[in-house]
Amino acid sequence: MKMEYILKAEGICRTYHTGTVEVHALKKCNINIKKGEFTAIVGKSGSGKSTLLRILGTLDKPDEGNVCIDGINIAELKDKQLSKFRRENIGYIYQDYRLIPEYTAYENIDPAINSWTTKTLMGTKLRELMSSLQIEYVMKNIRSEMSGGEQQRVAIARALINHPAVVYADEPTGNLDAGSSENVAAMLDISGK
Ligand code: ADP
Ligand code: MG
Repeated sequence: MKMEYILKAEGICRTYHTGTVEVHALKKCNINIKKGEFTAIVGKSGSGKSTLLRILGTLDKPDEGNVCIDGINIAELKDKQLSKFRRENIGYIYQDYRLIPEYTAYENIDPAINSWTTKTLMGTKLRELMSSLQIEYVMKNIRSEMSGGEQQRVAIARALINHPAVVYADEPTGNLDAGSSENVAAMLDISGK
């Protein structure tokens, strides 16, 4: 049966305990997203956006509630299965990109180098993706040899290379100006085909 929602989260709660202080970052949060849908989560700083994205991206676990991605209840996966599931189904673009500094752009994107599964034609696919994101010319540059915008596009390519079922982008705008940051959705659209 085809699932109507690629992402379904229900009753998500997450409380942080720091010393004696409790911060209820998420209280019974629900979200449903259909395949192919673009959704923006908007809220002021500290409202729990990053917390929610980390949970939906399986990088953190909720105290309560369920996350289903493509019909799979994440809570039912064991650690090893979860890592595999994450590699194969989830693309994550961090706010600060988190490129590995000593790797070239190409190495940062290549799943084989990142010790993910090697797939045939990855080289071709990677070049196509780099070409559509206009980063072919920085292929051999390491992080310190790339502008913010170039690093951002490398981070986007890395998130998309495995054709994940869902892609999360947590304000991946670094210190870029507003004009550049508005293009993230457009770049995901063009290169995610
Ligand atoms: P946003 O991304 O919308 O700015 P966050 O999800 O980062 O919001 O934070 C939500 C709330 O949880 C904030 O009050 C923040 O201070 C708190 N918080 C986030 N991460 C942690 C953490 N690791 N430990 C303690 N408190 C945290
Ligand atoms: Mg945030």
